Amino acid sequence: MEQRPHSMIEGIIITCLAIESQQAFVYIRGEYYNAAKVVQKAVDECYAAGILGNNVLGSGKRVDIVVHRGAGAYICGEETALLTSLEGYRGYPKLKPPFPAISGLYGKPTIINNVETVTNVPYIINKGIDWFKSFVHEKSTGLRLLCVSGHVKKPGVYEVPMTYTLREIIYDICGGIRNDHDLKFIIPGGSSVPWLLPDKLDAVCSMEGLQAAGSFLGSAGMMVMDHTVCPVWALTNLSAFYRHESCGQCTPCREGSAWLHKILFRIENGQGEEGDLQMLRSIAGTGPGTGMICGRSICALGDAAAWPVSSALNLYWKEFEEHIKNKGCGYKNKRYWMNRSGQFVNDSFAHKPTWGHAAH
Ligand code: SF4
Repeated sequence: MEQRPHSMIEGIIITCLAIESQQAFVYIRGEYYNAAKVVQKAVDECYAAGILGNNVLGSGKRVDIVVHRGAGAYICGEETALLTSLEGYRGYPKLKPPFPAISGLYGKPTIINNVETVTNVPYIINKGIDWFKSFVHEKSTGLRLLCVSGHVKKPGVYEVPMTYTLREIIYDICGGIRNDHDLKFIIPGGSSVPWLLPDKLDAVCSMEGLQAAGSFLGSAGMMVMDHTVCPVWALTNLSAFYRHESCGQCTPCREGSAWLHKILFRIENGQGEEGDLQMLRSIAGTGPGTGMICGRSICALGDAAAWPVSSALNLYWKEFEEHIKNKGCGYKNKRYWMNRSGQFVNDSFAHKPTWGHAAH
């Protein structure tokens, strides 16, 4: 959106002509001010050049694009919440069916695609579907925008074929881990997906590859954590996000996300109690589809709040237990952390930590 907005606009126009729609909206989250400004400028240029409007390039066809800025709610990335927000209401997700393709914006049939999808359209038309399908791993075809953040030397957005392994992405493309630290864990597809340990570095970063490794490609927002990161702290941080972003319509998501955060915050800050981990397990479950939240809410945000909790408990149960036993987080002030072999070590190696190995 910021660097090649005309590709996106071309994709929107082709898509509109294909489905015989005359009206498109670009919904941009409120915080992305720069993207909204760049896209609006490009749309204005297209109107001035006769590429948009009531006679697209002299074809006699009409396509209009409205650029709309949201007010900053994460949940408005969910398609029905996005439509409700676009109509001027509070961004609440709706139960489906009816699906937006049947009854969407203002009750009209509406197709919703993300920017990455429509931006691929002109390239596929120009280069051919065989070119696009030449990037293939099992059933995953084409290129994917990976947004890599966290403790890599070169974080950023990278367009890659879905044939690269996590190792190639982290070490070859992103330059490896900052300060040549050890890799601790990877959240490969956005904050809701199960975490992966370094033993999964050879997993292919495709839909099937990451599923086989025990996680998901999801939104392809990859977070990489080095060995200085406390998993309890990281999870507490994530759970605060989901608690804040829950729209509050469904009790399991509204209450469950708040309970998860309250318990984790307590554990991280030295007030964890016996039974807390079992309580977390009963709320979040032991994996997708289990527990008090998953599958019991209108949209997927409830599940998204629970999945990382069950994943982190599966991987780092021992570290959670140590936080409760030792009344707090040993990673704070870098008193000690876990090395490649799962040993807790001190920054200066001057003294050994009092507690033992992590679960893995
Ligand atoms: S699952 Fe959460 S975010 Fe989604 S509709 Fe229910 S309360 Fe709102």
